[in-house]
Amino acid sequence: MRLLLVEDDLDLAKGLLLALSAQGFVVNHVSTGKHALSSIKAKDCDAVILDLGLPDMDGLDLLKQSRQREGHLPVLVLTARDGIDDRIRGLDLGADDYLVKPFAMAELFARLRVIERRLGTAATHLIKLQQVELDTSAHQVRVEGEVVGLSRREFMLLKELMESAGRIKTREQLEASLYAWGEEVASNALEVHISNLRKKLPKDFIKTLRGVGYSVVMV
Ligand code: CA
Repeated sequence: MRLLLVEDDLDLAKGLLLALSAQGFVVNHVSTGKHALSSIKAKDCDAVILDLGLPDMDGLDLLKQSRQREGHLPVLVLTARDGIDDRIRGLDLGADDYLVKPFAMAELFARLRVIERRLGTAATHLIKLQQVELDTSAHQVRVEGEVVGLSRREFMLLKELMESAGRIKTREQLEASLYAWGEEVASNALEVHISNLRKKLPKDFIKTLRGVGYSVVMV
């Protein structure tokens, strides 16, 4: 799941970026409402984490505009302890959930998993295709019941492919699900991850569609 983090407190944003990417989320960060809106317009994210106190715009206005433009886009609101009215207004305007600062990371992860499940990007914790089982909550992959060690990117890549089993994922889609904006990516990085994954998975589990992308089949 690609997240857009809208937060002008740079220390907090930095901590969140680290923690969320360690959990396998791809996170892009903006610190103004203006940048958030252009990213939302560009459909660059699957869900938004929105701080209500932004320097250039009221977070609630941003929420309203996002609702008008991308009604389905889940928004998790971050609010200060004294912003109780804001919280209620936020839910009226269609925020999916809110967290009061300061909050525990585990709480944030739990709320995001709820959003992820609602989006259907993680329909269950367990995705099983052929002999391969991927557990999205334990971050674990088993082949014929045996745990297989994967790097973080390999896990994210396999998750993306298995969640859309039967459909082709293009190179661009896969790269966007693995890397944040501006992250330095070698041109063959995706091929290297795919090749490493293949060594750990049953033969022909990942299909190549030359010049198009990759897929895994349902059965
Ligand atoms: Ca703020």
